[in-house]
Amino acid sequence: MHSEKIVHQVVAPPPVHFVGDGFRVHSFISPSGSPIRSQDMNPIIMFDYNSRHYFGPSEVKRGVGVHPHRGFETVTIAYEGQISHHDSSGGGGTIGQGDVQWMTAASGVLHKEYHSEAFTRTGGYFQMVQLWVNLPAEFKMSPPKYQGILRAEMAHIPVGSSEVELIAGEFGDQHGPASTFSPVHLSNAYLNGDPVAYAFPDGFRIGVLAVRGDAVVNGTPLPQDHLAVLSESGNEFTLSAEGESTVLVFGGVDLKEPIAPYGPFVMNTTEELHQAIQDYNAGKFGVLAD
Ligand code: MN
Repeated sequence: MHSEKIVHQVVAPPPVHFVGDGFRVHSFISPSGSPIRSQDMNPIIMFDYNSRHYFGPSEVKRGVGVHPHRGFETVTIAYEGQISHHDSSGGGGTIGQGDVQWMTAASGVLHKEYHSEAFTRTGGYFQMVQLWVNLPAEFKMSPPKYQGILRAEMAHIPVGSSEVELIAGEFGDQHGPASTFSPVHLSNAYLNGDPVAYAFPDGFRIGVLAVRGDAVVNGTPLPQDHLAVLSESGNEFTLSAEGESTVLVFGGVDLKEPIAPYGPFVMNTTEELHQAIQDYNAGKFGVLAD
């Protein structure tokens, strides 16, 4: 059966706020429910977008200091600039243009996220996405893990004059390099003339962000920096653009489990949240220097 996914909503970038002093983000998906509710896009339960922004040169490190996470994965895509990360389970590294950090917090880590030293010194244009991928209940307390995924390791699939860069999930018979705990898709479509048709099995919840340039999703215009939410029903949609555009396609299959969020913790029940806070206060998330 071939049926089209419908564009439910085209969401303009919400007003920016700063996360620490390094990430100037539009929060599209958040547990607070504005503008898109975590429950409606689960397993993608948070989506912060730092639209292209110039940061001047600085001697002082910019970013977010040491903080905990439990119950999900933080996935960061660098479109411009460089981002460094370190966590208490020993994961860490610096990613540059097109690279991805895939950090599985699971049972708990402390981490810090900031502009790389080199990028801070020179300053420059900065553009990134961070999304939180929820974990199924059975994996929320599994050991932490870190995947640094370089752009060169991703599957690059030509579609006529355009290209799909696959980070996680499937496109045609290709598989992205990221390992996931439930069906998750993450890819960039580099549109350059020919349209790109995506096809998903039943039940995928998909969002589409116009990262560079305007695009068109199944006939609906998607201006730059806007996010389209597609219907869960249907299997297919087509991306196109007048000129060159970059479009991020993300989503997954609903975990159909309750979501209990509290700041940096996302569990299934209030009791588990209390436990997370207790464990954090007891130092069970490890040690990480500032
Ligand atoms: Mn974090």
